[in-house]
Amino acid sequence: MVGADGLHSRTRELVFGPEEQFHRYLGYCFAGFTMPNTFGLSHEGVLWSAPGRGAALYAVRDSDELHGFLAFARPEPPYDAFRDPAAQRDLVAATFAGDGWKIPAMVAAMRDADDLFFDVVSQIRQPRWASGRVALVGDAASAPSFLTGQGSSLALVGAYMLAGSLATRPDHVAAFAAYERDTRAFVELNQAQVGVGSAALFPVTAEALAQRNERLRGLSTVPPETGRPAHTALTLPAIPA
Ligand SMILES: Cc1cc2nc3c(=O)[nH]c(=O)nc-3n(C[C@H](O)[C@H](O)[C@H](O)COP(=O)(O)OP(=O)(O)OC[C@H]3O[C@@H](n4cnc5c(N)ncnc54)[C@H](O)[C@@H]3O)c2cc1C
Repeated sequence: MVGADGLHSRTRELVFGPEEQFHRYLGYCFAGFTMPNTFGLSHEGVLWSAPGRGAALYAVRDSDELHGFLAFARPEPPYDAFRDPAAQRDLVAATFAGDGWKIPAMVAAMRDADDLFFDVVSQIRQPRWASGRVALVGDAASAPSFLTGQGSSLALVGAYMLAGSLATRPDHVAAFAAYERDTRAFVELNQAQVGVGSAALFPVTAEALAQRNERLRGLSTVPPETGRPAHTALTLPAIPA
């Protein structure tokens, strides 16, 4: 059995126990939701930042809806809000109270949204990804957090490596062992690209925010020829047909 049920994997909980022991909180929370495109945005994304707080609006083509995103630094996870959507809305609204730009409209839309997705920014760090006949893959095994930008890649690479191991090993015991042995270093290298409270996208001090803005101004529109070494640290093996 393969558990591919994401960051808060129920499969992991059933097989390995409570999430807390594997959960590494990175110091941020976020809320995502859709809202009416009252700002006339089209084919674009706009960002707003203040120390410890960030907002984004994404307009997909000419849609009359926008994707709203509010993120903020918080030293401790908001345990009380985890299973309480009203508390999540109150926490986000309180965090952004008094902010300008389009924040008041975003907070109002967040309060009305029927698709609010609130979560903490965190990683899953687990010493083992398999037990008995169950293996975990993707965020369930090793979520790196969206701050790395690598979650989808790790999930796809993990699935490929697991499938390859199952196809080429005599049984699931050998296959799960090979999957972990050949994939773990790549995953851990990518998880290590971010630390607690160190998100370049959401600086928590005015000085760090000014430095980030300076770096953004200096960015070229041409992508660099080589990415981060961690992103290409694993060469996928060929899987025989
Ligand atoms: C705001 C945000 C931005 C992100 N940006 C990026 C990015 O730019 N680049 C990037 O690579 N990654 C990004 N990620 C991370 C990426 O989305 C995840 O790492 C990736 O989706 C993990 O894939 P997965 O298949 O392991 O888990 P998921 O995509 O979480 O899929 C798990 C699935 O399991 C289902 N499920 C859960 N429990 C059960 C159950 N009990 N029974 C049946 N089904 C169940 C869920 O409904 C879900 O469909 C971002 C994540 C977030 C939250």
